[in-house]
Amino acid sequence: MFGTIWMFSDQIDDEDILFAQRSFITYNMAIDYYKMSYRAVTRVADRSGAFYKLHKKVLINRAIFEDYLRKNGKDGWKKNMCKVIAIANQKGGVAKTTTAVNLGIGLAKEGNKVCLVDCDAQGSMTIALGYKEPDRIEVTLATLLSEIMEEEEVSISDAIIHQDEGVDLIPANIDLAALEINLVNAMSREVMLRMLIESIRSEYDYIIIDCAPSLGMMTINALACADSVLIPVQASYLPVKGLEQLMKTIQRVQKRLNKKLVIEGILLTMVDSRLNYAKDISQLVIDTYSNKVPVFETKIPLSVRAAEITVEGTSIYQYDPKGKATAAYRTLTEEVISRG
Ligand code: ADP
Ligand code: MG
Repeated sequence: MFGTIWMFSDQIDDEDILFAQRSFITYNMAIDYYKMSYRAVTRVADRSGAFYKLHKKVLINRAIFEDYLRKNGKDGWKKNMCKVIAIANQKGGVAKTTTAVNLGIGLAKEGNKVCLVDCDAQGSMTIALGYKEPDRIEVTLATLLSEIMEEEEVSISDAIIHQDEGVDLIPANIDLAALEINLVNAMSREVMLRMLIESIRSEYDYIIIDCAPSLGMMTINALACADSVLIPVQASYLPVKGLEQLMKTIQRVQKRLNKKLVIEGILLTMVDSRLNYAKDISQLVIDTYSNKVPVFETKIPLSVRAAEITVEGTSIYQYDPKGKATAAYRTLTEEVISRG
């Protein structure tokens, strides 16, 4: 029916006609036609109930799918699709930055649009992504947050760096330390970052925030705007005490600032499977926490190659494609995607 009417128009090609005639479409057609990522198609189809099984093949009911997009507004559905994950633990050296970078690039490799936000005045994530002198970068997270504080126009597009491995980065440098001090006296000081993140949400499938090793104002800001928090824990160190403090902070943020915040999971890192005490500590974390918070099935093994990438300024996928830590970060990426 559609086809016959549209046949007369030069502007519509055969593919459009084919598409218009279909009530049920495949994943690939949806990705192509709606310019959505795989993840976004899955979530919209899932939430709207548009999945349709036909002889073991999964198709999408177009009418239901499009109805959902319409009802959720032009940008509204996109904002809903984005997941913001904060990587936090006030202890330093537990692989927060390494995880933020390699989870982020892992997600991008699976076809997602990803923005990495460096929330540490040391700029470790900025450095790890190959920008060796963060203090020379002019427009950073600190610039954007101070513009928000001063209610000036926010220069987001000047701050975003399109990194070679397919992720966007909002960098940080030492200016963030000064900003954090100013923040203490600002109104709405805990939700400054949320204002920024809300304004870029619709552009991405995932936003990953790398927190500093503290429970200071910037980490509170990250928790206040995240959908979930991923907690890396180094398996060779008795971590239980520090974790209690972090859990308390998370609960306070959940109560007062961000009801939707959930714990994505504890991720055991730098696991040396040859050492018995590493096994004991992994088990201890699982025994102590797994009835309260999820512990990722994936564990990141100790790996010299993983330690080297920080200096190299590339992801582990590029530096050591066949390594065991690389495989673990791939599995972690899948685990995160499978949780929706
Ligand atoms: P954080 O951000 O929590 O301070 P980093 O990601 O900077 O932690 O990691 C701390 C140190 O441990 C870095 O020198 C990093 O290269 C190293 N590292 C990270 N992951 C591993 C691993 N799987 N095996 C060995 N060393 C690692
Ligand atoms: Mg770090």
